[in-house]
Amino acid sequence: MESFWELTARELSDKLRRGECSAVEVARACLDRIAAEDATVRAFLSVEPDWALSQAEEVDRRRRAGESLGPLAGVPVAVKDNLCVQGRVTSCASRMLAHFRSPYDATVVDRLLKAGAIIVGKTNLDEFAMGGSTETSAFQFTRNPWDVERIPGGSSGGAAACVAARMVPLSVGSDTGGSIRQPAALCGISGLKPTYGRVSRFGLVAFASSLDQIGPLAQSAEDCALLLEVLAGHDPRDATSLDRPVPRYASELEGAIKGLRIGWVPEHFTEGLDGEVGEAVREALRIYEDLGAELVEVASPHARYAVAAYYIIAPSEASSNLARYDGVHYGYRTDEKAMLADLEEERRLLRESGDEAALEEIDSALVRLYRRSRAGGFGAEVKRRIMLGTYALSAGYYDAYYLKALKVRRLIRQDYDRAFSQVDVIAGPVTPSPAFRLGEKTSDPLAMYLFDLYTVGANLAGLPAMAIPCGFSREGLPIGLHLQAPALEEVRLLRAAHALQRNTDWHRRRPGSHIAARSELRG
Ligand code: GLN
Repeated sequence: MESFWELTARELSDKLRRGECSAVEVARACLDRIAAEDATVRAFLSVEPDWALSQAEEVDRRRRAGESLGPLAGVPVAVKDNLCVQGRVTSCASRMLAHFRSPYDATVVDRLLKAGAIIVGKTNLDEFAMGGSTETSAFQFTRNPWDVERIPGGSSGGAAACVAARMVPLSVGSDTGGSIRQPAALCGISGLKPTYGRVSRFGLVAFASSLDQIGPLAQSAEDCALLLEVLAGHDPRDATSLDRPVPRYASELEGAIKGLRIGWVPEHFTEGLDGEVGEAVREALRIYEDLGAELVEVASPHARYAVAAYYIIAPSEASSNLARYDGVHYGYRTDEKAMLADLEEERRLLRESGDEAALEEIDSALVRLYRRSRAGGFGAEVKRRIMLGTYALSAGYYDAYYLKALKVRRLIRQDYDRAFSQVDVIAGPVTPSPAFRLGEKTSDPLAMYLFDLYTVGANLAGLPAMAIPCGFSREGLPIGLHLQAPALEEVRLLRAAHALQRNTDWHRRRPGSHIAARSELRG
């Protein structure tokens, strides 16, 4: 039988349209592939075989009836588990939401279903998307399909790994500081973070609302274009969504590179950059030059403050967004009986000891319920972010931290404005090194945060940015190229990415089916 899993979304949808296969056949093949590969990779938190097959049957029925079908009719897609799907669990990989079933669909989910895509399951992430390795998930580690002892990147680690391992051709992720681009780069696939406001955030569980953006992960720029076209567009349910026409991304891919001005930032190639990553990125720049692009050095004087500003702003917004998880309205609630029994016991002891003052000060049952629910529902990294954010926003520190970070954010945006008055796109590395080993940075949050140094700038400035494969390390690990463009210039990014992919085959390489062969795995 045809190996559907080897095909791109574009190839699959062409085959389906020509009637060379049915949506049910494709969905079955996809589910088989997930069953075979995901036992090791563990990209999915939930797989929905029955639902997937019934969606596929519906697509086939409509095709037989001659109804007009959407652009992704019959194409399987995975959705990151911080996007709400009606009636199904949206856990954000957190104990807090382990049993939360969303009463509505996120706008992007709605759009996928209308486009005929087959949603097959939901993918693992860092808890509430806070992290860069998917190791902060409360439920499981996801493994990098290129080397199962390594992280897939994060926070959309499951979303990247399931495409890299060819379990699905497309997946949807979210990017607050690099969470689409970084795992895409580390897993050797393509990923795009759109302009802030290009895609509706309605139904995306909020992490840092001024930075969050949803976008596509796929095997190629062409497939990213196909998926972005479905995801993008104005939505009255998200006040920050832009009311601007959506270009036909997938038909705008061809375009000469000749004369394209590509900016590169010297600081990106100095301290902290792995030699092999630097070499692969420089080689990609040389290819662009051969294709007729002009390389222009641009300055980005405030880029070195981007991580510091991001790690004030993102946790500040997170601390506010996550205040809603109190164990009362929804989400994980501590064992109330045990909590009340402890409270009674404490009161009794204090009464016995005659310590009236302490008895007065003892927390109420409600405060205890909040505290114990939050203590039990959130993992360590989420708690760290809440504490950092609460501190940065507190009276007396607000000006010194939060306000200062906002000023730095403005300066970073101005750097981009200046750069984009000289060049069309900016190119550089996505990550300082290829994928690191599972557990390598878990005890060192600062090292983990510094891994974001190239990606957070685009979020702080609200700009579109993309990661595409540009080579491999000697150990066989994928390396990504970062492309950034001015606001709403996704077409420019996709064209540049597509041009490189027409002239290289990095994006066509895939991890061998070595995956199932490894047995001595941890966790
Ligand atoms: N790694 C970054 C963080 O931990 C970005 C995460 C994201 O984009 N969701 O915050």
